Amino acid sequence: MGSSQTTPTLSTNMKTITTIGEMQALSDEMRKDKRIGFVPTMGYLHEGHLALVRKARELADIVVVSIFINPTQFGPKEDLAKYPRDFDRDSNLLEQEKTDIIFFPDSKDMYPKGYTTYVQVRDLQNYLCGKSRTGHFVGVATVVAKLFNIVKPHFAVLGQKDYQQLKVIERMAQDLNMNLEIIGYPTVREQDGLAMSSRNTYLSPDERSRALLISTSLAEAERLFRNGTRDAVLIQREVEGILKSKEGIDIEYVSVANPETLEDVEQIKDKALVAIACHVGKTRLIDNKVLMEEQNA
Ligand code: AMP
Repeated sequence: MGSSQTTPTLSTNMKTITTIGEMQALSDEMRKDKRIGFVPTMGYLHEGHLALVRKARELADIVVVSIFINPTQFGPKEDLAKYPRDFDRDSNLLEQEKTDIIFFPDSKDMYPKGYTTYVQVRDLQNYLCGKSRTGHFVGVATVVAKLFNIVKPHFAVLGQKDYQQLKVIERMAQDLNMNLEIIGYPTVREQDGLAMSSRNTYLSPDERSRALLISTSLAEAERLFRNGTRDAVLIQREVEGILKSKEGIDIEYVSVANPETLEDVEQIKDKALVAIACHVGKTRLIDNKVLMEEQNA
């Protein structure tokens, strides 16, 4: 396999691959003597995505970035159809970051007629976003497992912004003995603190300013923790109070949870995840912070 493929020249000639077979053959070839780093995305890239690409660039010989808006992770009432797309812009940004390969598959090839296999990461999928987004993490785990089998990376870089997703993928890779490393990368924020997200583009200027309460409330959680508060319920109420202090934020959940199991805690021992999901207008936003002793999280 792959004998007719040529290995791309490092970082000078970015290549876009759309077929699964071609990507697999090239990966087989490259893996012989190169370390492959992988960043899976749904495109409409921002500085958060690009920071992951830079991290991969630092650690890998070959950087592969996938752009695939995965239909199986969207619920029937979610924003699949209107999810923002701009391949040319993404491609330019990735070229500037010295990406070697963009993997840009078609939905019909990823999920051909008769497709029926799904990956379920139990327990972790049930908390936080899993409560309202039924089937979301099955869709995420399935597509990421497929992408790992196609790109065959030595490591993948994922954002802590989607904390539950990161934990689900870490667990999947461990449980299914996938031979690769998962690297979590800290959340990249706008200057005023709003976590970068492709969905921020949906926000009106007014919604954008209200959305700032999300990062403000997480900063308050951190402040309380630093000042010695270990009562998780108190922290949760303070965060909710800030989110409710202006009209227009509809809270889905505020959770103070064990950062590994994602279960709610009542008392924080050494570490806790504070996670928020809310709607600002029609836009669903998530953010989180890990509270940890003697370390900035
Ligand atoms: P998406 O395109 O939204 O599926 O995200 C692709 C990858 O980028 C995921 O691993 C996300 O966690 C990560 N990501 C998205 N936003 C950010 C951010 N603001 N900071 C760091 N990583 C992010």
